[in-house]
Amino acid sequence: MNVHLLKSPELSEDTYRDVVHVLRQYPGPIRFIESELGIMDAEPKDHYWEDEKKFDTKDHVVFPQYSLISDNEMRHSFPMTDQRLTWQELFRQCENYRTLRTVPSDDHVILLTNIGNDKNWFGSIDESLKNYFIHTENWSHYFQNHIDVRFPIAYEVIVWLLRGCIYSSRYELQQHLHTTSIGCFMDYCENKKEIILKMRTADICPSCLDHINQKDLPSNFVNQILDTMDGIRNNLIFRERVRIMRRPSRIQVEGFMKKIYLTDFGNLEVRLNPKERSLYLLYLNHPEGISLPELYDHRGELLTIYQRLSGRESNEDMQRTIQSLVNPIESDINVNLSRIRRKFKDAVGEELLHFYDITGEHGAEKSIKLDRELVTYKD
Ligand SMILES: [Zn+2]
Repeated sequence: MNVHLLKSPELSEDTYRDVVHVLRQYPGPIRFIESELGIMDAEPKDHYWEDEKKFDTKDHVVFPQYSLISDNEMRHSFPMTDQRLTWQELFRQCENYRTLRTVPSDDHVILLTNIGNDKNWFGSIDESLKNYFIHTENWSHYFQNHIDVRFPIAYEVIVWLLRGCIYSSRYELQQHLHTTSIGCFMDYCENKKEIILKMRTADICPSCLDHINQKDLPSNFVNQILDTMDGIRNNLIFRERVRIMRRPSRIQVEGFMKKIYLTDFGNLEVRLNPKERSLYLLYLNHPEGISLPELYDHRGELLTIYQRLSGRESNEDMQRTIQSLVNPIESDINVNLSRIRRKFKDAVGEELLHFYDITGEHGAEKSIKLDRELVTYKD
């Protein structure tokens, strides 16, 4: 089964790739296909929010039993502004993509977008049960702290996909939604804050399980969905626990390009560019630390790493890059250190940053504190 994941232009490339990466970790018949285009030919309208309660509440929608939904605009005018499109406009993006790329009608098409929707839902499905949108913003608002948005977005993708496959119409789907949240994937979550319960539990209640059984879906399809839900829940819970326990994740340095992955954070890649990554790998190789003036003595080692990671430049350019990096008079090194710091902070949060960043007293050795037992290299 093919599932095309569309990216609307304002959604960050990194978030999009991270979500695809999460979804592709669980083997099975569902194939997640990336779209290269920024899909969106509709103009979002400004939306004003009066208060938090409205912001947190889904608009009630009644799916008609036999006909297509009449998409009445339910507009509010409040002091806070964001942007929204109607459901119709969002589903139209999926349809347009189908036409543009001649997507087979059996394939599923899911638009991931930062733009809100006029019913204030996390995501939805159209009457064909093959087109979807997922709202990719506001997750920190619901989880009330820093959250790795890959997981709730990936979770919504998988939940909507499952719903799309087990019901024969939106009407039937709606009949089976749980109006009271019980931690099942069919929880309606009218109060959007209840989404936390749904994701932390990431469960399927006995009656929904019965329903899935009756549908006679291929067992490898169901297993892939269940594995993905379990994986996402474990990651969400693990990350919360890690924050409280202050225990760092393992690092894996992988492949020819020596990309850096946080093993226990759902294999999140820390996206350092070749220059930053070369510097980081050098410091990983030197647990004893290297002061900034001493970097000059390591320029050979640094250049060897950089030559491998930076394919495109000429040898002369690469030497110049490394010369500038190890030159204590230039600020290049500080710029790179602070970029590395920011990228790790985004990935692991403030509490765990001190295990990963390259730090030390001014003028003294700088080093990465992480226990090297937690670092593995894989070709
Ligand atoms: Zn249920």
